Amino acid sequence: MMHSNLIDGEWIDGNDMVRNINPSDTNDVIGEYARASAEDAKAAIAAAKAAFPAWSRSGILERHAILRKTADEILARKDELGRLLSREEGKTLAEGIGETVRAGQIFDFFAGEALRLAGEVIPSVRPNIGVEITREPVGVVGIITPWNFPIAIPAWKIAPALCYGNTVVFKPAELVPGCSWAIVDILVRAGLPKGVLNLVMGKGSVVGQAMLDSPDVQAITFTGSTGTGKRVALASVEHNRKYQLEMGGKNPFVVLDDADLTVAVEAAVNSAFFSTGQRCTASSRVIVTEGIHDRFVQAMGERMKGLVIDDALKAGTHIGPVVDQSQLNQDTDYIAIGKQEGAKLAFGGELLKRDTPGFYLQPALFTEATNQMRISQEEIFGPVASVIRVKDYDEALSVANDTPFGLSSGIATTSLKHATHFKRNAEAGMVMVNLPTAGVDFHVPFGGRKGSSHGSREQGRYAAEFYTTVKTGYTST
Ligand code: ADP
Repeated sequence: MMHSNLIDGEWIDGNDMVRNINPSDTNDVIGEYARASAEDAKAAIAAAKAAFPAWSRSGILERHAILRKTADEILARKDELGRLLSREEGKTLAEGIGETVRAGQIFDFFAGEALRLAGEVIPSVRPNIGVEITREPVGVVGIITPWNFPIAIPAWKIAPALCYGNTVVFKPAELVPGCSWAIVDILVRAGLPKGVLNLVMGKGSVVGQAMLDSPDVQAITFTGSTGTGKRVALASVEHNRKYQLEMGGKNPFVVLDDADLTVAVEAAVNSAFFSTGQRCTASSRVIVTEGIHDRFVQAMGERMKGLVIDDALKAGTHIGPVVDQSQLNQDTDYIAIGKQEGAKLAFGGELLKRDTPGFYLQPALFTEATNQMRISQEEIFGPVASVIRVKDYDEALSVANDTPFGLSSGIATTSLKHATHFKRNAEAGMVMVNLPTAGVDFHVPFGGRKGSSHGSREQGRYAAEFYTTVKTGYTST
């Protein structure tokens, strides 16, 4: 079946398409998905612009009902959509279903937020004058998403955009159009008026670029690589538009001598390798103090031996394949670089053969790594982590912060003093104590500092900051 783009309420095939391939079994074609042209993107932007005045004035109950219906359908179809997600992206079925549930919860949350829009009334400093502060939608919002969370990231951008009265042009990642197409289909059937949400699947350099170059896109929210994020930023400055970027991470996970070893190992394995290490909140630097170092490394090796790497849809699989050949090449290149730099490959790193042709890689753990090595500074985005040995807490904190990124930061400790100090001093948007660096709630802010993010936070009530613009009204009575 051909899955079309949606422009101004019409499903449009176009002249070009891409096959959606299962990374667990490259013989398995999930479906054919239309590839939009730059002209299609322009038509989508024009449709969103035309739909904006009516949608921005739509009643909150209408928005609530559409978002609520969408949430209900996503949750009712969680097994089917979760399976589609695992099939197209390669994370395990449990992770795929979990992510789908999260997408449903996000729509549910913003359905509620539509009913809770509020402003402030403040007395003026001048007598007999009142001041009211209200939030208005921004306009046409461009949404550009990556492949690693095929349903949650589209959900956490589309839901608030619509909730606050914006219209949308949405470009999902080319590798995983399936879940994006499915949620757009659900939203349309839930009653969205034509033009309010437009789907333009296709190439970043064509469709994404057309969005960046359009003066009619008032805001762009982007999650993806640092390089593309910079392009979004530069183009947005040119058009004086709002922009929000979520980019890479090189998240540290600190293990102190006083840590509970089991808690530390579980959190480190989860942070580094679950979802095949393909999370921007994954931890790829495990910073371990001397007293626990050898015991920790040994326990990690034992734990890693028990991991089942196989077809994402198979029961019992802990870690699915890497998403595609080019990402697999990047992972194995970095494994070679780590060896050349003098780190010791203590475990894993080999390509694996399974029953079906897929991009299977045994998670890799380096030891004897330093923080200056490229494997400790550059984002790999795969199941590859290095252990960096440090003397004490102070050195651990300074190594943890010595990175161009600042998304998430974790620590395993039983010391209240160190946990508290770390929470205050970690240079990251999110900090985790005795928990993996990845795995966040849907109703609280998400985002980072330094090279990881730009603009206001995503998710929860903080999303309003990006998807609205504030108006200050004065009335003399
Ligand atoms: P990743 O490494 O996750 O693929 P990218 O930054 O390349 O990171 O991709 C993230 C999203 O940005 C994808 O939807 C991709 O198509 C899009 N993209 C890539 N290049 C551009 C561009 N020049 N302009 C706009 N979007 C782009």
